[in-house]
Amino acid sequence: MRKQIAAANWKMNLSYQEAENLLNEILSAEITLALHQQVLFAVPFPYLIMGNSEVADDQGYFIAAQNCSEKKNGAFTGEVSAEMIKSIGIKYVIVGHSERREYFNETNETLAGKANACLEQNLIPVFCCGETLSIREERRQNNFVQGQLEQSLFHLSSVEIKNIIIAYEPIWAIGTGQTASVEQAQEMHEYIRKALTTKYGVEIANEISILYGGSVKANNAQEIFSCPDVDGGLVGGASLVATDFVQIIKALKK
Ligand code: PEP
Repeated sequence: MRKQIAAANWKMNLSYQEAENLLNEILSAEITLALHQQVLFAVPFPYLIMGNSEVADDQGYFIAAQNCSEKKNGAFTGEVSAEMIKSIGIKYVIVGHSERREYFNETNETLAGKANACLEQNLIPVFCCGETLSIREERRQNNFVQGQLEQSLFHLSSVEIKNIIIAYEPIWAIGTGQTASVEQAQEMHEYIRKALTTKYGVEIANEISILYGGSVKANNAQEIFSCPDVDGGLVGGASLVATDFVQIIKALKK
């Protein structure tokens, strides 16, 4: 079975002490993961090393960065390179979250550069895509998401694309409490898998995990994750509450 993943996105929340407590509380639930299950915690940059040492003994638990630069190195004050992230033992990076696209003007082209920068360092990008409400209302969501994939990922080789995790996050569902219905989620995930199949073939498409993000909560995770093409979730708000995120981890396909 392809990897089933519960990924927490803490965004710009929590003091160091709060972050450490939250991580400890979740890990102390001692959920043993199956080999096909993983849990990621995308924490703020200053907490990466602390997080990595906290999860070190827990099979299937990993820390992720929330972003990285598309530039290799140099005079880019305030930026953090893929090489730096790699050098402290991190394996995963969120790339292209809708908040980065909206507030930091990250374009599909920039994100192609970030995906390349990650892959060059053997980091696994969790590539986010998804449409706005107005695009969905105009029923253009499929073409829109296809465009994001084509412009940011489809230059990758068959070997490279296998090292990508995709997160479909309809923007109208992020932080709004309005979740996509299971039908809407499955429909888009199936569409994305078909696009991957057309480009890379069915075998590779079936290996790529596609996470759903957008108001995943403890009480709806199981239903959403049960969709055949949904391989877990990228979770914002509910990942900041230990008991809720523990429930979400338990909702991963067995
Ligand atoms: C997110 O930020 O990726 C997200 C899905 O947030 P939330 O779960 O709060 O909607």
